[in-house]
Amino acid sequence: MTHIAGDDRSQILLLPESLDDYVGAENPVRFIEAFVDGLDLTAAGFARVMPKLTGRPGYAPSDLLKLYIYGYLNRVRSSRRLEAETHRNIEVIWLLRHLKPDFKTIADFRRDNRNAFRPIFRQFVLLCRQLDLFGRELLAVDGTRIKAVNNKDRNFTRAALATFIKLADAKLEDYLQRLDQSDVTESQTAGSRVKNLAEKITAIRARRTRCQTMLAELDRTGEDQISLTDPDSRAMAAHTHVAVGYNVQVAVDTKHKLIVEQQVTNQVVDMGLLTQTAEAAKEILGVETIDAVADKGYFKIEDIEACENAGITPYVPRPQRGPSVKAGLFRKDEFSHDADSDSYVCPAGQRLYPYSSSLLRGLKRTNYVNKLACDDCKIRSRCTKGKFRTVSRLENEAVLDRMAARLAQRPEVLDRRRETVEHPFGTIKQWMSPGGFLMRGLAKVRAEFSLTALAYNLRRGLNIVGFAELMAAVAA
Ligand code: SF4
Repeated sequence: MTHIAGDDRSQILLLPESLDDYVGAENPVRFIEAFVDGLDLTAAGFARVMPKLTGRPGYAPSDLLKLYIYGYLNRVRSSRRLEAETHRNIEVIWLLRHLKPDFKTIADFRRDNRNAFRPIFRQFVLLCRQLDLFGRELLAVDGTRIKAVNNKDRNFTRAALATFIKLADAKLEDYLQRLDQSDVTESQTAGSRVKNLAEKITAIRARRTRCQTMLAELDRTGEDQISLTDPDSRAMAAHTHVAVGYNVQVAVDTKHKLIVEQQVTNQVVDMGLLTQTAEAAKEILGVETIDAVADKGYFKIEDIEACENAGITPYVPRPQRGPSVKAGLFRKDEFSHDADSDSYVCPAGQRLYPYSSSLLRGLKRTNYVNKLACDDCKIRSRCTKGKFRTVSRLENEAVLDRMAARLAQRPEVLDRRRETVEHPFGTIKQWMSPGGFLMRGLAKVRAEFSLTALAYNLRRGLNIVGFAELMAAVAA
């Protein structure tokens, strides 16, 4: 008995197989080729789609785009590794018809066409829409943080710089005093202590100057932090486990967990990003109205109102924050507003009426009070630490009441949000780990994520409807 043996490598084949025979009939590379060949790359914004009449011929953008889509689909993202694949990977050799661009050409293509990848992502979304892969009823909007090419030691916040300068001043004063004392005691011996202190003082002064320069730069730009390797990246919140990175926003359709809209920003928090993400998704889905669910990080009255005005019905749970929550007192949502009498009914059943008003972010804020009722209240210790409780209401707070009523009727929508976004985020983070983004700068990072989201949708599309249906849709 022997093992299965391969062919002799020096065997001359009488009828050599063609390269096409090595690539299966339903290999995804065949779809990548058909999809890219059907795109209008000039309209998408790619440069040099038409070859120049003079000079050395360059590579066609369509070939390099096919290479990138294949690479992102197979977790090969760096230009050097893509170059290597053009030499050894039979699928890439087939896709590029033996073309072997060097890594610099590959890298330059992604950098020079950074704004053109987003339209390509959107073209695939339109193809999925054509295949009826979107439910077009409910969008799950969420954000995740992805690491940038910037070590946390190369990021400085305004507060950290100010603290360092203060500490450096104290240290310098201490060292200078010790230097004076050492000068007296070691003047005859020219000891090493003086030399050590002088070196330390020089080092601290140099670092202090660098911090002062960065602080001046922050004052000039009005920013709160500075990143030295990738100036567009930002220090993210501690709980995100990404020290310095970007905030990636997605709107995912709940039917098949396909990404409808994606955008990368360097805004640290999600608050205020709901409307712009959901509205772009609604537009590409071609619907008049749509529901959108997001987590409490998106809770901002202006954004929720903007969603309603744009035909998006938002579902965002109210975060439990504020001094009353911290103190363990009755939360605001335990007071119900009565629009007819413009009063609040408190947990003791008493009514609080408008008492005073002020402005918050340009919105009128009315304070509701009932001092008399609070005076005699038996549960006051659970409601306030003062003599009476004040409940404030913004002029447009009816949008929050409507949203709370919707959420009370449909609480399961919050679980659907989590289940829906877990799939793309889990997959994409695995694809991008451990390094995160490879490029520097917001525009280039956006190009990278457009390719990543396209690869995710393409993989999903192939799993859901299969190769044949996708090919038929491209041919249609
Ligand atoms: S303290 Fe005032 S507002 Fe609070 S429960 Fe009692 S009556 Fe109502």
